[in-house]
Amino acid sequence: MKTITCLDCDEQFSGETPEQVQMAMLPHYKESHAEIIGSVDEDGKKKWMEEFRVRWDAAK
Ligand SMILES: [Zn+2]
Repeated sequence: MKTITCLDCDEQFSGETPEQVQMAMLPHYKESHAEIIGSVDEDGKKKWMEEFRVRWDAAK
């Protein structure tokens, strides 16, 4: 189980796999970061995934 802080605020999400944490984050993004979801492009998604992976690997 790892806990990852939202890339765009201080809320935290836990899961056994990166996919679980991302699935937990999705409703939060839709609710709290709708403008990011609505405006992100492919490059932005790639950067988000890279940053998520860095945080995942760093998390205990
Ligand atoms: Zn957030």
